[in-house]
Amino acid sequence: MKPDIRDFTRAELEEELLSLGLKATHAGRVFECLYKQGITDFEEMAEVPPKVRAALAGKYSLCPFPPAEKRVSLLDGTQKLLFRFHGGAPAESVILPGKGRLSACLSSQAGCACGCTFCATGALGLKRDLRPSEITAQFAACLREAGGSLSSLVFMGMGEPFLNWENVKKAILILSDGRSWNYSQGKMTVSTVGIVPVINELATSTLKVKLAISVVAADEVLRAKLVPMQAKYPLSEVIAAARSYCRARKAQVFFEYIVFTGVNDSAADAEKLIRLIKGIDCRVNLIPHNSPAGRTGDGEPSVKTKAFQKQLIAAGLRTYLRLEKGSDILAACGQLAAKLP
Ligand code: SF4
Repeated sequence: MKPDIRDFTRAELEEELLSLGLKATHAGRVFECLYKQGITDFEEMAEVPPKVRAALAGKYSLCPFPPAEKRVSLLDGTQKLLFRFHGGAPAESVILPGKGRLSACLSSQAGCACGCTFCATGALGLKRDLRPSEITAQFAACLREAGGSLSSLVFMGMGEPFLNWENVKKAILILSDGRSWNYSQGKMTVSTVGIVPVINELATSTLKVKLAISVVAADEVLRAKLVPMQAKYPLSEVIAAARSYCRARKAQVFFEYIVFTGVNDSAADAEKLIRLIKGIDCRVNLIPHNSPAGRTGDGEPSVKTKAFQKQLIAAGLRTYLRLEKGSDILAACGQLAAKLP
C-alpha cells in the first residue's frame, strides 16, 4: 500500500519532494490543498503544478477517511464521534461543551496497552497505533462539528499518547503548521499516565504543548492496583520528572486525580497528594470516577469530592473539579471503548 501523504509533516514532505527531483517549496501549496481546502484527490489540487501532482499521485495515497458515526448527549450536548479506520481500528473523539467554549478530545491509539483497571479503553487492549493522518482526521471532523472553532484540544481519548509519541508529535506539527490549520500548540494538552522518558524529552523539546499527568492516586500501593504502568514508572519517578519538566520549561503541569468514592477521597488521601506534589507549579484536575459501563450518579461531584477539593485549595493548590460529561453516550473519561449506545 502506498504511504498516505497526510502522514508527513511539511518538513518531511519537502524532503520527499526533493527526493523526487521537485522543488521543496511546493510542499506549502500541497499542505494548503490538503488541510485548508480538504482536498482528497491529487487531480483537484489546482494550485499545484500538474507535474508535481502526477509525481505525488504515483507515490502516495490520498483517500477520504470513512465518515465518523456520531452520538450527542441529551444531558449536556457532549458529542462523540466514532471512526473506523483502516483494518477496523476504532478510535473515538469527543467534543465537550463548556461555558462559551468547545474543546475536542482526540485518540492517539486504537485501544490501549496500559490496562488501567478503571478504563474501558484499557480493557480493549491495543489494536494499533494511529497514524498522524488518522489523528488529524479526528481534528478535522471535530472542527467541522464545532462549526469551525475549537477553544482547546486534548490528547486524552483512547490510547497513551506517549506510547505513540512519534506519530502524535507529527500530528501536532501538522495541526499547528501555518499552511494547514495553524492551530496553536499552546491550546493543546497531551495527557500521559506517566511515561517518564517522554516527559523528560518534552521538557527539552521546542513543542509548546501543555502536559497533563494522570496521578490517579497519591499512594504507590493503591496506584499499582489501578495503573499497571506504575510497575515500570513508579509515581516517585513520575513526580520527579514532572518537577524537572516544570523547572526546565518554566511551565505549569496538570495533575489528573481520579476520585474513587471510598478509595482515595479521604482527608488523609488529600494530605498525601498535597505532600507528593508540594512545590510543583501545577493545577490539580479532580475527575470523579465514571463507571466504564455508563452513568451511575446524577453527574454532580459528591460531598466528599468537594471537601477533598477544599483541602487542596486550603493548602494553596490550584484545582479544577471536572463535571461528568457525556456519560449517557459513553463519552466521559474512562468510558471510551468504541461502542455507541
Ligand atoms: S487511562 Fe489512558 S493510559 Fe490508562 S488504559 Fe485508559 S487510555 Fe490507556
